[in-house]
Amino acid sequence: MNFDKILQKPFLISVFVFNIILFGVIVFLLGYVQNLLDSDSRNNLEEIVSQNKNVITSKLLLDLNRLDIISNKISDGLKNKNITKEADINKFLEDYSKNSIDDSLFLANKNGLAYVDGDTHIDISGRRYFKLAIDGISNISERTISRINGEYIFVGSVPLYYDNNIIGTIQKIYTDKQMNELFAASLFSSKGYMYVINSEGYIILHTKHINCALKSDNYFRDVYEYGNVEAVRKMKDDIKANKSGFMENAVNGEKTFSAYTPIEQVHDWYLVTSVPTDVIAENGNIVMKIFYMVMVSLVLIFLVSICYFAWNKRRQKRVLEKIAFVDNVTGGNTYNKFLVDVQETLSNKINKQFYILSFDVDNFKYINNFYGFACDDKILRQIYSSVSVWMQPGETAARISGDRFVCFLLDADEERIEALFSAIRNITEENLILHFSAGVYVIKDYDENINLMVDKASVAAQTIKGVLNQHVVYYSKKFDDMTAHNEELKRDLKLAIKNDEFVAFYQPKVDINSGKLVGAEALIRWRTRDNKLIAPGDFIPLSEKTGLVTDLDMIVFEKVLAFLRSSLDAGVECVPISVNFSRLHFSNEKFLPTLLQKMEKYQVPAHLIELELTESAIFDNFSIIYDFTEKVREYGVAVAMDDFGSGYSSLNMLKDLAIDTLKIDRAFLEEAADNEKRNIIFVSVVEMARKLNISLVVEGVETGENVSLMRECGCNIAQGYYFARPMEESKFAELFREGKLC
Ligand code: C2E
Ligand code: MG
Ligand code: MG
Repeated sequence: MNFDKILQKPFLISVFVFNIILFGVIVFLLGYVQNLLDSDSRNNLEEIVSQNKNVITSKLLLDLNRLDIISNKISDGLKNKNITKEADINKFLEDYSKNSIDDSLFLANKNGLAYVDGDTHIDISGRRYFKLAIDGISNISERTISRINGEYIFVGSVPLYYDNNIIGTIQKIYTDKQMNELFAASLFSSKGYMYVINSEGYIILHTKHINCALKSDNYFRDVYEYGNVEAVRKMKDDIKANKSGFMENAVNGEKTFSAYTPIEQVHDWYLVTSVPTDVIAENGNIVMKIFYMVMVSLVLIFLVSICYFAWNKRRQKRVLEKIAFVDNVTGGNTYNKFLVDVQETLSNKINKQFYILSFDVDNFKYINNFYGFACDDKILRQIYSSVSVWMQPGETAARISGDRFVCFLLDADEERIEALFSAIRNITEENLILHFSAGVYVIKDYDENINLMVDKASVAAQTIKGVLNQHVVYYSKKFDDMTAHNEELKRDLKLAIKNDEFVAFYQPKVDINSGKLVGAEALIRWRTRDNKLIAPGDFIPLSEKTGLVTDLDMIVFEKVLAFLRSSLDAGVECVPISVNFSRLHFSNEKFLPTLLQKMEKYQVPAHLIELELTESAIFDNFSIIYDFTEKVREYGVAVAMDDFGSGYSSLNMLKDLAIDTLKIDRAFLEEAADNEKRNIIFVSVVEMARKLNISLVVEGVETGENVSLMRECGCNIAQGYYFARPMEESKFAELFREGKLC
């Protein structure tokens, strides 16, 4: 439905926008945390590098210091012997070397002639370490090949002073192994590695490690070959300027952080410490992973929540729709759904003729009472399914309530509707004869309120209720007139109540054997201001519909109480008077208290009042009336069942209900097709009433034959024109006093 889509749109947009914002925040936070961790890692690395450098340089310096101490000792020895000539100095150095127990040490004179291994002299004047030392710079050489044994060695070299002049140098040989031991340091759980390079990038030393990705003997070339041109350029510049630095490079595809720093104490040595990024950022990575996981979980939880929310909303909507739109009795449309569908069709303004059909089953209450609710529901379902099969595309139907159905049709031909009813009759219980009353409203104005259209069709249907052989009626102008008339009547009734225009007439109840007055029925009349007398048949049905009837009943009741009071005061031997009460009173809890309170007000004894409730009112509200009769009889007020035999009388009802009088409807006295049968039933009812201790009153006794029939059947009390018509109070007062009719 469009409505749903519109409803969902802002929701989806807000979810989408929220997700974008959430995603943005997460990306920002991730970047921020990553930066923090990176800079933290760099700081850590720098710290480690400087510590490393300190360790290594102090080790190297310690060794060079030892050489310096030796050099000082030799200088002291020279001083003590007061050697002055250069030849003597050379001799001294040669001798010292020969006698030296430390064979890794050797001296060289000013000209670079080194005294090694007894008589062996070698010329080291070309060596860089010698040149630096003779210039007064203690240093350690790069890796070089020994001229004595051809092995890789390092040579530490310090100047030898005599009389403040450099007279030669002292060298110490470090084997490759020794130097590496000196250099060895465990970095980052052995995952890091170090190089000592010179300013040209030549690798002097390096840690031995599988991660040490050496390709050549030149660090610059290696890094360059891995494609890190910019990194090499910056590193070269820094080294040239004797500056420390930091670079990020990829070696064999592995991201590596490298920090480099000059080892100031050793000439032209630079320490490079490298460590794979993931090692240095191991903790950071764990933090990042946790962070990622938390964020992803949050997003997932959020998305799952949104999905659940949306799913739940849809489910609830479907449940609500089902409640609102699916009739639990027929399984078809509810009236609400019908209204929505019809509204949608009509708002499309298709230029077509549409009709509203409203129908119900005439005697449905009867079916309900005799066959029970299960059968009742089954029939309603069958009716709905027949309607569904019968409908054309574009038409719709629903059950309004009870047994009332409504259809929105494209064709409402009487024959078509009759066909529907006979189809329904064919599928329902075989022994059930269903009668329908249908009203059709032809839609002329698409904008008219749909409820009003349905009302009009229903009003039309009501007018043919009980009319034999007419099942369909079309709403017309006359119904509008009727509605207008009813509206006018309603207004007049209200005004008449206000102006006290209602009066009570009284119709005697007579004992046919003695002619004695045994009671009377109060019957309402409307005496208009122009003194017209209107019978209840003209206003009671409408006042029932509008609820005004309850006021009218109370007016009559008060008039009866006032009459009885004045009769009692006049010393009349009063007989009970019955008052008619509508079924509408039974939905009012205050009904009984009001009755009692009024009787109290007029001080009228309860046994002089009888309440007449129509058979159909009792039938419709059986349980409520059952409770009511139980209570009211406790106060001594009698209850009569009016019009017995006019409706769907259930004899069963009599045995359960505590009633005092049964008023047999005048229809019972009418000529029947089979009078004998009628008499048999009459006799049985009389017999049954006697056994149940219920007194009988026969209504509408008009003729002597009626009276004879009553005698035959053993019925004594009559109410009818034969004895007396309803009469106004003043006239009845005379009869009341006499207590006898004939
Ligand atoms: P009902 O209670 O069955 O009253 C009996 C009706 O039958 C009265 O009609 C009465 O005039 C009429 N009747 C009596 N004897 C004969 C007869 O021999 N032949 C014929 N053809 N009719 C006879 P009424 O007074 O027109 O009242 C009609 C109905 O209006 C009453 O039927 C009752 O249901 C209702 N009604 C009258 N007054 C009241 C009232 O105060 N409150 C309520 N709720 N309903 C009232
Ligand atoms: Mg009555
Ligand atoms: Mg009656």
